[in-house]
Amino acid sequence: MDILEQLSQEAQKAGSFIAEKATAVKDYTVATWNTAELRNKINQLYRSIGEAVYKAHTTETDTAEEIEAYLTELAALHEALRDKEEARQALRNRKLCPGCGKPVAKENAFCPHCGTQIQ
Ligand SMILES: [Zn+2]
Repeated sequence: MDILEQLSQEAQKAGSFIAEKATAVKDYTVATWNTAELRNKINQLYRSIGEAVYKAHTTETDTAEEIEAYLTELAALHEALRDKEEARQALRNRKLCPGCGKPVAKENAFCPHCGTQIQ
């Protein structure tokens, strides 16, 4: 194999390595946007619940049904956020601690934040 052919093969290897890294960065960025969007929706719901409680307090309107609907939606969003966050952390070889929910390296036997044993 002559030097030019060898150089060409090395350049191709480097190119595919860079393409793989770029795809990994893009995937993680998209996953981060998705979780941020869910967190924003959750925060909007918390605000709506607060407004409904305040409305009930100040105008003596019954907002219990309204609040119940917000809480149902909130539970679904929290579940969706957990799924998205798990997928996002998996892209970085991490998983979520079952104890405190913080990201932990996959190879850790125990959570460095709370000490919970990780399977
Ligand atoms: Zn933990």
